[in-house]
Amino acid sequence: MANRPTQIQRTPNALPARDDGIVFTSLCGSNPKDIGGNCLLVDLYGTKSDGTSEHARILIDNGKYGFNANADIRYRKGNGKSVEGEVEGAFVDIRPWLVDPKTGVTPSGEPKIDAILITHAHQDHLPGPAYLAKMMQVEHQDLVIPPIYSSSYTAEQMKELSVFKRLPEELRDAVTPVVVKPGSAIPDLGESISVKMQPVNHTPGARRVLMSTPAGSWLHTADTKSDPTQPFREPGATMSFGGIPDLKVISADSTSAGKTGPQPSETDIGRTLSRIIKDNGDKTVVVGVLGTNMGRVATVVRAALSEGRTPVLDGSSLRTNAKSVENAGWSWEETCGIERRDIPDRRRVQALLDDGSLKLSDLVVITTGSFAQPNTGLDLIASGRHPFVTAGADVVVVNSQGKIPNVVESVTAMESKIAAAGALMINPEKSVKLGYGPLHRSGHYGEEELKAAAGDMDPDVREQVTFVPVHGGPDLIAKNVEAAHVAGFKNILDLPVNGVEITMDRDGVRESGEPHLPNMFVAVQTSQDWRYPRWDFVPLKAVPSLAESLTPVDPEPEASLALGR
Ligand SMILES: [Zn+2]
Repeated sequence: MANRPTQIQRTPNALPARDDGIVFTSLCGSNPKDIGGNCLLVDLYGTKSDGTSEHARILIDNGKYGFNANADIRYRKGNGKSVEGEVEGAFVDIRPWLVDPKTGVTPSGEPKIDAILITHAHQDHLPGPAYLAKMMQVEHQDLVIPPIYSSSYTAEQMKELSVFKRLPEELRDAVTPVVVKPGSAIPDLGESISVKMQPVNHTPGARRVLMSTPAGSWLHTADTKSDPTQPFREPGATMSFGGIPDLKVISADSTSAGKTGPQPSETDIGRTLSRIIKDNGDKTVVVGVLGTNMGRVATVVRAALSEGRTPVLDGSSLRTNAKSVENAGWSWEETCGIERRDIPDRRRVQALLDDGSLKLSDLVVITTGSFAQPNTGLDLIASGRHPFVTAGADVVVVNSQGKIPNVVESVTAMESKIAAAGALMINPEKSVKLGYGPLHRSGHYGEEELKAAAGDMDPDVREQVTFVPVHGGPDLIAKNVEAAHVAGFKNILDLPVNGVEITMDRDGVRESGEPHLPNMFVAVQTSQDWRYPRWDFVPLKAVPSLAESLTPVDPEPEASLALGR
């Protein structure tokens, strides 16, 4: 017997169906203590050529919230079943908006979601549908998952998720994204409604979303930056806001908006790496990256080759992601001057070291663990468990990633251990101090980039458009608001909390309805055996340590439309 899906209480749309426009709600992502869980619910209203009205409901992203939860949980479900395991993260529960095939309507009676768009392959945007499908399997529920749309690389990354691989075939099919060409419209949303995913610079295959109705257009930037030197960049990838017809709203996502001054490019970072490698010719060079940052991996590979070294892809996630890049149509040979299969992995390099065809000082070892995640390459080096790199005077370890707030302590501890073992430890701050140059740039725009993107707009349009920062806790939102002022926007909707509904129609842009939070579910990994992972699911409110971070700091936040300064 299938469980009844949880119902989400959501205030009725303030917008009568006959008015053209967009109603937009950021359900999660503006969390005081965690930047995860990006998930936007958008209703688009239009008028067909025969004068009748039409409506489409889309979901943009369904990301993981509570990254570094690492909490063990014991919970007894309503059916008496006990759930025990480690929290993997929480997700917005979208089941109230999926059709039950037995009744033909949604459990909530609300309109169904017609399409799910995934902007890019980061965990705080991507994996919700795969966990949703797993939950439906575990709880024996039958609901119709709407078509999911993404770029080719993002689709490849969905298929690499451990939870995706453990789904039965029909559910795997249901959550395999349909690949849409850059800039082409999502099908079947309506005659007068158009939704397009346009390429941006962030991860490979990252997209922003341009939504258009007869009452105007709304650009959701998703995660974006401006770097024309980014490896695996798509033709036409841009952050520019110029030349978008009938633009009324920009909802903008940057966790880096507070950065002032120009940010380095990947080319600048490549030069820094070359200098470090050249300066340490007799040492093994290890470069720590984030496993998803394939652009940075390409930068390190290029720097290694330019200094006559052999790059090594050390770690299974790097190999998997490198293959995804290739499956999505990019060539490593064209990007870096070496075929992917010619870059040795951990096992192959060990054989080459053993038979004497390579020595350690020939290598640039690219490995994971920039955020000190357990059992990544940098963690293994710090704890003396890496198979062929032993931290000592003949080793340079470079961490090419800036620290984000919730990992500062663990990264600092890891880097100290590596330095204490006698290796030269270079992080972005140290690199600048030693005169090597910048080692890191954020994947998100800073103030200068926002200014440049807005500078492409017709000044009259820029003054009319409403700018809505949508991601991060109150501090980050405040920085994005500040950056928007600097960029010349006059209408800035400052909404530092989740769940605020915003309406755009011919009367303008405004907050509509009370803030409301959706139900969320927590994925718990219940198997002790990493080779055969199993999951179970509990309501977020059963995990107070996570649920607390979702509560707005101000219990009665006052949304304000700040006009001018
Ligand atoms: Zn991202």
